[in-house]
Amino acid sequence: MKKVIAIDGPSGAGKSTIAKLVAKELGYKYLDTGALYRAVALNLVRLGVREDASDEELIPALEKTKVEFRKGMILLNGDDVSREIRSPEAGHYASVFSARKPVREHLMSVQRDAALHSDLVAEGRDMTTVVFPSAHMKFYLDASVEERARRRTLELSSRGFAIDADKIRLDIMERDARDSGRDLAPLKKADDAQVIDSTGLSVDNVFRKILDIIKKGP
Ligand code: C5P
Repeated sequence: MKKVIAIDGPSGAGKSTIAKLVAKELGYKYLDTGALYRAVALNLVRLGVREDASDEELIPALEKTKVEFRKGMILLNGDDVSREIRSPEAGHYASVFSARKPVREHLMSVQRDAALHSDLVAEGRDMTTVVFPSAHMKFYLDASVEERARRRTLELSSRGFAIDADKIRLDIMERDARDSGRDLAPLKKADDAQVIDSTGLSVDNVFRKILDIIKKGP
């Protein structure tokens, strides 16, 4: 395995923005694992899999679900779904289905394989704890619910989705509870992760902070 910088944190904490900047600065590859869970969830919904489906229903549907990154796009069974996966609905279903063991197992090798040949900045909910427990550097990026809801609202409206700010806030709180409260790979701070609270900090502030820590080394 090559060098991995692992970043976890709740929805809207700024993980993707920061991970992309760090990857670019260091010349590492960037792995957005939320995009993988979103694309899988999109296909499960398309295949008519219900939220309360049994493992016996999930497994054959997952066998028909191939997700991969290519040239900055996320491909679902060969089709570019980069835009579709960004909808609030896709986020909701990703959070629901990602709590299921067959779904997490389905995505394990895609994630670990990403670090076979390139140094990697990987972000998600279980990068520091489950997928890359021996990562070179670990970060837990956090921010207040209000700040995260404000950022998510701006992000979704800039992508052209119709949004209701109050609903986004509730959605974030619901996702926090589901992602942290699940039995499998729950969102939590790894003992050896450095916590950065980005509330009130600019993107550049957070980026510089993380870069300084990386430069000092583990
Ligand atoms: O980060 P993003 O909002 O795109 O992730 C969507 C959902 O996918 C999260 O709410 C979480 O439930 C799930 N996820 C996960 N493990 C990861 C990345 C995302 O369970 N490593």
